[in-house]
Amino acid sequence: MKTGQKLNCSNIVVVLVETKTAGNIGSVSRAMTNMGFDDLRLVNPLTDHLSDQAKMLAHGCNEFLEKIKVFPTLETAIQDCSLVLGTSHKPVRYNQKSFAAREIGNTLVSYCEKNKVAIVFGREDCGLSNDEINLCSWLVNIPSAREYPSLNLSQAVMLICYELYMSSLPTLEQEIPEFAKYEDIERFLAYITKILDSLGFHHKNNRSEIFVGTLRRVLTRIGIDAKDLKVFYKLFEQIESATKCKAQNSENPL
Ligand code: SAH
Repeated sequence: MKTGQKLNCSNIVVVLVETKTAGNIGSVSRAMTNMGFDDLRLVNPLTDHLSDQAKMLAHGCNEFLEKIKVFPTLETAIQDCSLVLGTSHKPVRYNQKSFAAREIGNTLVSYCEKNKVAIVFGREDCGLSNDEINLCSWLVNIPSAREYPSLNLSQAVMLICYELYMSSLPTLEQEIPEFAKYEDIERFLAYITKILDSLGFHHKNNRSEIFVGTLRRVLTRIGIDAKDLKVFYKLFEQIESATKCKAQNSENPL
């Protein structure tokens, strides 16, 4: 059975604050298009989002660039949103609750079914100001190496969009098969011990219980399917009949 929540992409808004590099806006546009999002808002951009550099990194997403909306302040950009999330690699310094992107994915997918959610990204050089962080209900971070946790802006956008996208994918709920019971496994172990003994199988230090104990652990650890156990029976039945055949032939040589 497959389960999953449908992602209402039109309710996810990405907000970039005072972005300096047109290339980053182009890369963000491409990343959002890749993950199915289309609402990008710029707060007081310090570059031209329709420049050649932006178009080059948007790589064919020119229509997306045309649809970008520009706002003078963060407050004006988030007016129609019900939940505003700030992003930062240094969540512990702020008062808001902070979540790893993967942790919050499912909650956001449910939330944006009926509500607009803004995810706010800061400046390339100094991130979001404290006042901007204070406008956010929660913070989201992308776990990264402590020595250098700050990601490139467009890569940060990509990873958060990707986590949202992944949270909406159907997951396979595996059907649990009917496993063999201990009594079936014990019967099987007794059976193969008998065959191995008849073959003169040499147990290390003559301790067959250690060998059987290992087999028991292996078979119960993987939770062997009752049907699969039958396959093992077949295998040992073949060994048994081949051994009997061989023994008869050596008793009655031609
Ligand atoms: N040098 C800045 C970071 C700039 S990176 C600083 O110290 O704050 C530009 C933006 O990318 C950040 O404002 C944030 O929105 C996002 N970002 C970068 N790394 C991130 C991370 N590990 N987790 C969450 N967002 C991150």
